[in-house]
Amino acid sequence: MSENQTYEKPLPTLDESNQPFWAAAREGKLALQYCAACGKPRYPINHVCPHCLSDQFAWKAVSGCGTVYSSIVFHQVYHQAFAGDVPYNVSLIQLDEGPRMFSNVVGVAPSQVKVGDKVRVVFDPVTPEISIPRFQRAG
Ligand SMILES: [Zn+2]
Repeated sequence: MSENQTYEKPLPTLDESNQPFWAAAREGKLALQYCAACGKPRYPINHVCPHCLSDQFAWKAVSGCGTVYSSIVFHQVYHQAFAGDVPYNVSLIQLDEGPRMFSNVVGVAPSQVKVGDKVRVVFDPVTPEISIPRFQRAG
């Protein structure tokens, strides 16, 4: 990113708990925290498994494939940095591995995104540290 380009939208704060997620994203991989005791994916990131209460986990890259579970189109500007983006979709993606993740489906008109669409993750490198996972229609 050159000096005169700045990213005006809110960014996640990197910390010890989410750093592996964003490191994988920089490498073009979607990674999830998996419980080391019961083996279930843990998302959102949590220091304790919601299923078995274990605090042990490991990060694993997942397929990045999923299905649109829900999708809406934002027309209202809730944050000035998004003024140039409306209308845009906000979609809840059911990952093949189980968890659901809020994101955007890109590469298609926002109103064309349909529940049940098969999607695959793509990464949007918005800063040198942060590549945001978004989704596009698969196949
Ligand atoms: Zn567990």
